[in-house]
Amino acid sequence: MRDCACWRFIIFIMHSEIIAVGSELLSFGRIDTNSVDISSRLAGIGISVRYKQVIGDRIADMSQAISLAMDRSEIIFITGGLGPTNDDITREAVADALSMELKEDEQVVLELERLYRKWGRRMSENNRRQAMVPEGALVLPNLNGTAPGLFLHEGEKLIFVLPGPPRELNPMMKNQVIPLIKKNKRVSDRPFRLLKIASVSESALDARIEGIYKDYPDVDTTMLSSPGVISLYFTWRADNGDQVHAKACLDQLIGRIDAELGISVLTDREEDMQDTVGRLLNEKGLTLALAESCTGGLICKMLTDVPGSSEYFMGGVVSYSDTVKENVLGVSSSDLKEYGAVSAKVAEQMALGVREHLNADIGLSVTGIAGPGGGTDEKPVGTVFIGLSGAGTCQSWSVRALGGRGIVRQRSANQALDQLRKWLLTGG
Ligand code: ATP
Ligand code: MG
Repeated sequence: MRDCACWRFIIFIMHSEIIAVGSELLSFGRIDTNSVDISSRLAGIGISVRYKQVIGDRIADMSQAISLAMDRSEIIFITGGLGPTNDDITREAVADALSMELKEDEQVVLELERLYRKWGRRMSENNRRQAMVPEGALVLPNLNGTAPGLFLHEGEKLIFVLPGPPRELNPMMKNQVIPLIKKNKRVSDRPFRLLKIASVSESALDARIEGIYKDYPDVDTTMLSSPGVISLYFTWRADNGDQVHAKACLDQLIGRIDAELGISVLTDREEDMQDTVGRLLNEKGLTLALAESCTGGLICKMLTDVPGSSEYFMGGVVSYSDTVKENVLGVSSSDLKEYGAVSAKVAEQMALGVREHLNADIGLSVTGIAGPGGGTDEKPVGTVFIGLSGAGTCQSWSVRALGGRGIVRQRSANQALDQLRKWLLTGG
């Protein structure tokens, strides 16, 4: 019994820390998203992140950052700076901070040579830098790039050195790092559920569900907002190990929120709007064509990001100018003059035109004012009309998308797909 309480205490005080390396992360070039991805993976096993540091490519600064992390944290993640060039100095900084020798790892050299042969390229001498490994480190193979990760177990501390590119880091985190943490530390899987909600504002959503999630003090509720879609994360907080009870509570909570929000619930899976809509179109055996104005092809891009979308997506027309709306989509020139390009009438005609032109079952359209200019009192920036044409129906919706140009476009794209989703779900 005492042992158990003791472990609970140890789990509670386990601090983790992330060091994101790269001068580009300190200037206007890039945002550190790796630490967000790492934190969300850690949340799944009940580890919270206590500190984050972002450090430029200077060996002394990095070495200092690593030493500080070693003083205060039990698990340390260092991402970036593992490339072959001279400004990639993470390996050297780790060796320096931990007073370790770097040695060329023969296996890594062979693997790099194999990769370059496969690509039909000659490996340059500086690529051998990527094979330098601190003594005692375990090499984590990188299946999506050249820089392998490193794992060091120093006393009670776990140190992971991981590649910077997210498409290399994320699979390594999931497939290698999390299992290594589970093997070396007492951590428990925290049951976790996700719900994505579409076309509801954060404040309106919170007002509707606050009374529900507050009934579950053992569940951490986190709301992450993106334009047009809000992700709700429910993570079991208590560390009592009763997984059956935890899962039952989470199921009950999800059930109540689902009942409250109804059709606004987009999905309970790790998927985007276009995945959900694609699945619905597939199930119904319907095809779709797009006519985009203010979104400039963004919805077509989103739809074609989904593998297999050729099953239901016919294509699209970026009808940015009135001439294209008129000449390609057959929008009436008098309606364009009378109601303006951003209007319900034009949205409906765009949807009908693209549906007929591309021979699809459904035509979806978006026309709006993305800003920053072009707004009027009557139609301010963010005014968007969505049109939908299906067999025997042509309808439109007006929405107001707040935010800068990029956000208005993303929000409009998600809202247009969401209108289509709701139409399909309600018998379209
Ligand atoms: P490479 O072999 O590609 O050089 P690396 O491990 O050295 O990989 P970096 O050179 O630090 O990684 O970064 C490569 C790219 O990875 C950067 O241009 C950036 O796009 C991305 N990247 C690096 N760190 C981060 C981060 N913390 N968050 C998001 N992206 C990052
Ligand atoms: Mg690099």
